Amino acid sequence: MQIGLVTYKPEKVEGYDLHVYYSKSADGQVFPAAKGMQNDATVFCDAKAIREDPSIVAMSNTGPALRKNRRSNFSFDFVCPTQPEYRAKVLDYIESLSRESIIGVTLNLYHFPDQEYCVCPRCVELWKQSGLNWTQWRAQTVTKFLREAKSRVKGTFAVEIYPDPVLAKERYGLDLDAIGDLVDYFHVPLSSRDYFTNYWTIMLARDFAASLKKPVVVELSAEMPTDEKLNALLKTVAYVSRHKVDAVLLLVHDSENARQVCRFAVQNRELRDWLEKYDFKEMTRIIDGWAKLY
Ligand SMILES: [Zn+2]
Repeated sequence: MQIGLVTYKPEKVEGYDLHVYYSKSADGQVFPAAKGMQNDATVFCDAKAIREDPSIVAMSNTGPALRKNRRSNFSFDFVCPTQPEYRAKVLDYIESLSRESIIGVTLNLYHFPDQEYCVCPRCVELWKQSGLNWTQWRAQTVTKFLREAKSRVKGTFAVEIYPDPVLAKERYGLDLDAIGDLVDYFHVPLSSRDYFTNYWTIMLARDFAASLKKPVVVELSAEMPTDEKLNALLKTVAYVSRHKVDAVLLLVHDSENARQVCRFAVQNRELRDWLEKYDFKEMTRIIDGWAKLY
């Protein structure tokens, strides 16, 4: 198993095999490509674009897909996935990333906000014209978008997925089988403020590894500053490493945060003895590698 980073800084950190950089974020900020890294772009969540033109927001019968619409539990503001000008703009951005010497492109939030979206007049018209049912049309819309995006990408093409192994197609339009034909790997974020309770993390990692047709990479949050939280995180990474997961990516604020994780692991004799006692070979190998650097 490889160990990697998801970061907001375009810098590689020693001791990590994979580097994923957020080049376009859900607040609408857009950055130049990070060279030599996998560039991760948020597609249809763009608070800035919606502020500039509120008509592009995804709609349901009970209101827009906005954080302030508390009928729903959205963490982001969603653009309608069939909005032609926005689609063209974001596809151009994806293509611009690929003109640089990057490893590849990962897309996140490139789908519908939820099952009851989007019922804007354009989506309803496109759905009726398609002759498909609601679930099929929405899934086809997302898959077609990804096919178009992939044609603009040079190098490794990956997608993040909402970690819902059961209702992904009905809710978000994620046809994981069809998407599996397009991507090099799936990136599954299992974010949390801490991993003191971690059974769900290991369960979902196993479910996706068993059910997806392409390699699975799992993202865990590592921005936590306390020793207890770091300890629980590293044990969770160890349990995930027992399963058919290609890599664990640690989400960090910055490079110093990433090095802090390494130093904590290297200096934590109790943790390293525990990993050896219970035969976590992959995790022991990773931390032994860090010990040569930190
Ligand atoms: Zn729409």
